[in-house]
Amino acid sequence: MESNVRVRFAPSPTGPLHIGGVRTALYNYLFAKKHQGTFVLRIEDTDQTRYVANAEKYIIDALNWCNIPFDEGPNKNEKFGPYKQSERKEIYKKYANKLIDTGRAYICFDTSEALDEHRKQHEAAGKTFIYNWHNREKGNLINSLVLTNEEVESRINAGENYVIRFKTPQDRILELKDEIRGEIRINTNTLDDKILFKGDGMPTYHLANIVDDHLMKISHVIRGEEWLPSMPLHVLLYEAFEWETPKFAHLPLLLKPVGKGKLSKRDGDKLGFPVFPLAYENLETREVSRGYKEDGYFADAFVNMLAFLGWNPGTEQELFTLENLIEEFDLKRVSKSGAKFSPEKVSWFQQQYMQTRNDEELTALYLPILKEKGVEKDKEFVKKVVSLIKERAVFVKDFWELSSYFFETPTNYEEKAVKKNWKEGTSELMTELVTIINTIEDFSSENTEKQVKEWISSKEIGFGKVMQPLRLSLVGKLAGPHLFDIIAMIGKKETITRIENATKNL
Ligand code: GLU
Repeated sequence: MESNVRVRFAPSPTGPLHIGGVRTALYNYLFAKKHQGTFVLRIEDTDQTRYVANAEKYIIDALNWCNIPFDEGPNKNEKFGPYKQSERKEIYKKYANKLIDTGRAYICFDTSEALDEHRKQHEAAGKTFIYNWHNREKGNLINSLVLTNEEVESRINAGENYVIRFKTPQDRILELKDEIRGEIRINTNTLDDKILFKGDGMPTYHLANIVDDHLMKISHVIRGEEWLPSMPLHVLLYEAFEWETPKFAHLPLLLKPVGKGKLSKRDGDKLGFPVFPLAYENLETREVSRGYKEDGYFADAFVNMLAFLGWNPGTEQELFTLENLIEEFDLKRVSKSGAKFSPEKVSWFQQQYMQTRNDEELTALYLPILKEKGVEKDKEFVKKVVSLIKERAVFVKDFWELSSYFFETPTNYEEKAVKKNWKEGTSELMTELVTIINTIEDFSSENTEKQVKEWISSKEIGFGKVMQPLRLSLVGKLAGPHLFDIIAMIGKKETITRIENATKNL
């Protein structure tokens, strides 16, 4: 049965979702699923100046790729819809007016030029201008607290531009509780009277966010640390509306690999890792940013890595399926301090997940790449190749580099390795080896290994003298899985051709 736990991910569609945003979505999802609750997606697009056309689709595609779909949101179970704030415009004005009626908000006619002037004058005197209890009723600012009702009405009727501000209560110590950070005390006299409703007929983030969280019955607000400074205002708004306040949890920032400062796209560009889940094309500049998906990461490896950026299970275990994460996730184990992003750890998770993938699945991913290379081999052969190389692979896209010699006769030989291993007498040894190989009937890995090694022993020379040139002949470099597995795979005829090629060319 569904519980009363309802959480939301509320991104603003201003561009691609940064991995910090994906982590916020993930923690919301895990928390919801752990408590049999509901995960809501709400698009916060009240700031039309920052709206980007392809961002909403990007957000939804990213959640789907991560396998953390929302239960309610745009075009899906719209129980408390619409789930896009721009489609809820009519709702907010009513609530702003309600606060005016109860004396918790007021109308301001100050022009932006006048406010700039106040700011400048304050700066000149070494002070900061804050619109709040200090000055709102002193007569320098033009608002409904100092004007008569008639004056306010006639200004509005004359079409004068106005905003609605929250009237922050004075002389109170707020005792806030954050599920991750614990108790926070704030003196309301330090807060400014934030704008709730703008001159363009749109609510600000603060008003829309609170009204929607209330109407959508959100029980827990789990969001990034950058919203912590808004918490006092939000709690005061709930109080002003006489609504029940949800619980709050502010997640730690994602930090640069060096540990200081917020992780940015620039860090990713510099160090060569994506900061977005999916590749993204900026519609204006046409610049394309890399994404984890397109770079070849498995979604579950990416999600596992993200889960650990700010949370840990309290044990040594690091590999968790989504189901395990749901079971183990607990806000109490989310850290207060910033989470350092580590590109090495991302690769580590990816490599671990590569090893857990079965050969069948990896073969299905490799076959189209082989087809592109013009290689036609039967599936069972490819599957065997995959089983031999996957422990060295981080991505499926590495497979070709790691296995091309299973499909193509090498034409280049790694120079350094040749110098070191192809000595005087090597060609003669290799020619003799061909005659030995020719006599082997059972060409299994075990048998060729036995026969070749017996021959080497009988010659009383070191194994390396034969094995290294043999590997160079077959692979072109000193890399790859067990040599006799390769021999068994490519077969007798091809093994001999390759040894003869090398003997001719080196
Ligand atoms: N729209 C805000 C954002 O872009 C939402 C913040 C919140 O979750 O309250 O992150």
